[in-house]
Amino acid sequence: MPKRFFLPTQLIHGAGALKELGKFVSKDDNVIVVTDKGLVKVGLVEKLLAELATIGATWAVFDDIEPNPHADTVRKALAFAKEQGVNTVVTIGGGSPMDVAKVVAMLLTNEGDISDYQWNGKAVTKPPATLVAIPTTAGTGSEVTRTAVIIDRNTKKGIGNDALFPKAALVDPELMVSLPPQITAFTGMDALTHAIEAYVGLGANPATDAWALQAIELLVEYLPKAFANGADLEAREKVALASSMAGAAMDQAGLGFIHAMSGPLSSYYDVPHGLSNAVLLPYGMQFNLIAAPKKMARIAQLFGVDTFGMSLREAAQAAVDAVEQLCRDLEIPADLSSYCQAEEDIEKFAVEAINMFLMRNNPRRPRVSDCADVFRKVLLPEK
Ligand code: NAD
Repeated sequence: MPKRFFLPTQLIHGAGALKELGKFVSKDDNVIVVTDKGLVKVGLVEKLLAELATIGATWAVFDDIEPNPHADTVRKALAFAKEQGVNTVVTIGGGSPMDVAKVVAMLLTNEGDISDYQWNGKAVTKPPATLVAIPTTAGTGSEVTRTAVIIDRNTKKGIGNDALFPKAALVDPELMVSLPPQITAFTGMDALTHAIEAYVGLGANPATDAWALQAIELLVEYLPKAFANGADLEAREKVALASSMAGAAMDQAGLGFIHAMSGPLSSYYDVPHGLSNAVLLPYGMQFNLIAAPKKMARIAQLFGVDTFGMSLREAAQAAVDAVEQLCRDLEIPADLSSYCQAEEDIEKFAVEAINMFLMRNNPRRPRVSDCADVFRKVLLPEK
């Protein structure tokens, strides 16, 4: 089947990228800034507003966005944007504000409610409002994807549409220096999960492999450095670029077992997205190992494992071991038992994960019992 690689977003990366905002926003624009309170607190919103002031644009700030955002938050942000009569959306933050902003930009010009598009397949007929995405975490890659992940009806459900691609992504490592080590680790592992799932998934092709493999290589070298010293601008820059590359790769090639399993953990237990991916990643790789041994062996090599003299199986296993070691280095919790609320949820989560469309891209077909086994290991490790 023919494959498509489509990335209409201008990706501008490197220290000082924020200063390029004036290329996409003019003095005649009225802007909604979509962000969260954490970003206001660390002074990054102020930095953006100073840039908007230099441009001469007018603005209003919507900062009421929770991690793992819900459909009602999109509705509130949209109502605020309409009240303010904005024509442009600028989002600064992690995946949560970026995803809300993407849907707001689309709904500013297209009629209807988010649920029409998320659940009922309503067609987008008009180009979205101008959207500039400024990521401050290096993990989701949302700044370069056609996807917004919003929780509704207890489900973390992605909306996918070309109209959600931002016009520009300004990926500025200077905006990531304030990220605490733990969020650096969680979000960086999200990026690694994107790259690995894109690479081993059924939708992978040489074009997406190039982005995914380069992203893995950069993350292996620079994520531990960014975790060890958040002020290391070179490490921040490389991790940020890797995150965008991994995001583009997974957006074009698809995801799999790990993200499908991660969904119910965020929608029911509000586990940070990067954390659930990080904890599930070695399990997902172990499960997929027999389906993609050569690719796993290649991942081991990117981790610096000398696979010479190893059997293919040993080399593939070395990739799982290397990811486990990285998780330990980044002080990722070994399990998610502190989030577990009810043992009975495990079966429900397993059924939901199996039914997620992401699972169709996984190289190995799981049974409900495979998913339940992994959920049991991460939620009830003592049993
Ligand atoms: P997030 O946006 O929820 O942010 C997590 C926390 O980090 C927040 O409290 C925020 O205030 C803080 N923070 C962000 N940047 C900071 C900085 N520079 N300094 C200090 N604090 C900072 O986290 P996330 O992991 O970036 O996004 C997760 C969301 O993205 C989930 O909903 C997930 O499903 C979604 N996602 C979307 C895509 C996509 O393609 N659209 C891909 C993957 C994940």
